[in-house]
Amino acid sequence: MTALDYDVAVIGLGAMGSAALAHLSARGQRVLGLEAYSPAHGLSSSHGDSRIIRLGYFEDPSYVPLLRRAYENWRALERDTGRDVLTITGVLQIGRPDSPIVSGTLASCRAYDLDHEVLDRADMARRYPAFALDADEIAVFETQGGFVRPEAAVAACLDLARRNGAQIRMPARVTAIAPDDGGVTLHIGTERVRVGRVVAATGPWIGQLIPALAALASPIRQVVAWYAPKDEAATALGTMPVFLRDAGPVGSFFGFPQLDGAGVKVGKHAHFREPITDPDAPNPPVNDADTALLDDFIARRLPLAAGRRLAATTCRYTMLPGEDFLLDTLPGAPNVVVASPCSGHGYKFASVVGEILADLAQHGETALPITAFSFAALEAKAATA
Ligand SMILES: Cc1cc2nc3c(=O)[nH]c(=O)nc-3n(C[C@H](O)[C@H](O)[C@H](O)COP(=O)(O)OP(=O)(O)OC[C@H]3O[C@@H](n4cnc5c(N)ncnc54)[C@H](O)[C@@H]3O)c2cc1C
Repeated sequence: MTALDYDVAVIGLGAMGSAALAHLSARGQRVLGLEAYSPAHGLSSSHGDSRIIRLGYFEDPSYVPLLRRAYENWRALERDTGRDVLTITGVLQIGRPDSPIVSGTLASCRAYDLDHEVLDRADMARRYPAFALDADEIAVFETQGGFVRPEAAVAACLDLARRNGAQIRMPARVTAIAPDDGGVTLHIGTERVRVGRVVAATGPWIGQLIPALAALASPIRQVVAWYAPKDEAATALGTMPVFLRDAGPVGSFFGFPQLDGAGVKVGKHAHFREPITDPDAPNPPVNDADTALLDDFIARRLPLAAGRRLAATTCRYTMLPGEDFLLDTLPGAPNVVVASPCSGHGYKFASVVGEILADLAQHGETALPITAFSFAALEAKAATA
């Protein structure tokens, strides 16, 4: 049996991998981080200035305990690195009372006694004039909402990991993993590295390294745009909260106040659901249909933000059946820990996902509540999707 070069290798250093590397290195593990490109690069899912974080999870109240831990871990990362990662603005979740966003947020807030207010159209006009509501729409304002800065968070995790002695190689692409009873052999081109366990956190590329996910994980194209506000004060950070807005059969939109001089950012969840077949291919240019969708939304729903469009960019969601997460060891290969890219709503969790992945890599289990994110649960969701 060959000696191990490292206790654990983390493959992919985006949101999830960089957080796992930070947690593992803080526990004194000998860790190697491998990244095919660079931190939070333009083909990854972790660029674009901001990601919403919220406690009152409309998708399912069972996420709330993990979110509480995520908030604690983001604050710990800030303390450990001196970087500004998490900003609290409050979050507005807007729609008709029976919409999934509004009713689900209220269910979470009530189940966990989260600080929130219900605002009608008149309340909104007085308090948050940037938003235009229909007469039958309301907003749930949850005070603990805000945003995480993805590029800064990845950089902070990598700073911390380096400080704790982690080895980081980039660009370095893992071309195959070969687990056996004593560990895992990594193929990096023609080079071989022997490790005890691996964490595979390769985002939109997850199906390449983990064939069991090839048919289940679907990378899709996502577009966001930034606008110069018509009203600086109403859209300023400190005045305008982050938001999610139900749009009925069309889906939902999300957005952020002005940040670092870049304007107001908006996007539509899952945009046009266009599949990406080759994650290494350059992003196709943002086109007129992309911008028309976002221009129309901002003109009708955020009129005080609807000045000139300043920029638009492409990112990637990677969807799993049920739009859920997968955090588990690979069936038949307990030395391989797999993190899915979390179906377009995972960034806020990255700080706790890193802890979970470190637990799974170190001990094969975690005390954090992840039974809903197992391979078995994924197969059940796939069967009913
Ligand atoms: C526009 C947009 C808006 C979003 N908004 C929100 C939001 O408001 N709130 C929220 O919580 N979430 C949001 N998300 C989702 C969130 O950003 C993702 O869940 C998260 O970024 C996924 O991170 P990841 O680490 O899995 O993937 P990535 O960040 O893509 O990282 C994977 C890394 O693995 C590397 N890699 C791949 N293959 C290999 C290999 N073989 N060897 C070495 N390295 C490899 C890649 O180069 C990449 O850097 C949004 C996503 C997008 C695109």
